[in-house]
Amino acid sequence: MLNLIIFGSPGAGKGTQAKMLAKQLDLLHISSGEILRQEAKNKKLATQINSYLDKGRLVPDELIIKLITERLEERLGKIGIIFDGYPRTLSQADFLDKLFERKKLKSPLVISLELEEDVAIQRILSRSKDSNRSDDKLKVITERLKIYHRDTEPLLEYYKSKKRLIKIDGRPDIETVNKAITQQIKKEVN
Ligand code: ADP
Repeated sequence: MLNLIIFGSPGAGKGTQAKMLAKQLDLLHISSGEILRQEAKNKKLATQINSYLDKGRLVPDELIIKLITERLEERLGKIGIIFDGYPRTLSQADFLDKLFERKKLKSPLVISLELEEDVAIQRILSRSKDSNRSDDKLKVITERLKIYHRDTEPLLEYYKSKKRLIKIDGRPDIETVNKAITQQIKKEVN
């Protein structure tokens, strides 16, 4: 059973690649950002969630862990999953590991999309025209990148030490990146 984590800075192309891989490999796509934007339409949680999203901050671990776990119940171990935007902190990663251990599943492969920060910023700014996302503004993007370096990037070392990390050049066009990922996955699986 193949489970994947797609990893990278904001603007690295995680969402785009995750959608393609989900189709190609028949995986359930779990996007933390989409889940939060969806939950933010629900009046009860809207104010809380938006207060983080609009500033480019991470929502509290407890909240995202709860929302992710709800979606995993029943499904983890039965179908392959691609995690997009989760985990983003060491404690989220630790929680996911424990869940996999409890279910006796092999830990997910981590695909890290690598690209320079200025390219990532340009990509987010150009998608902002149609994304309608309150956090795709330069000031918020800068904050998201700062938090990425501080809280999320350390996960790379963590997954490297587990020998489950695959680095992919995120600079080429969408199709090229996609091919590079699927080729690497094939190598790992065989
Ligand atoms: P991007 O990867 O481009 O930053 P996402 O759609 O993945 O975009 O995330 C948007 C926002 O949702 C983040 O800036 C953050 O506020 C929140 N978020 C997403 N995933 C998590 C997570 N795992 N933990 C905490 N907050 C999260």
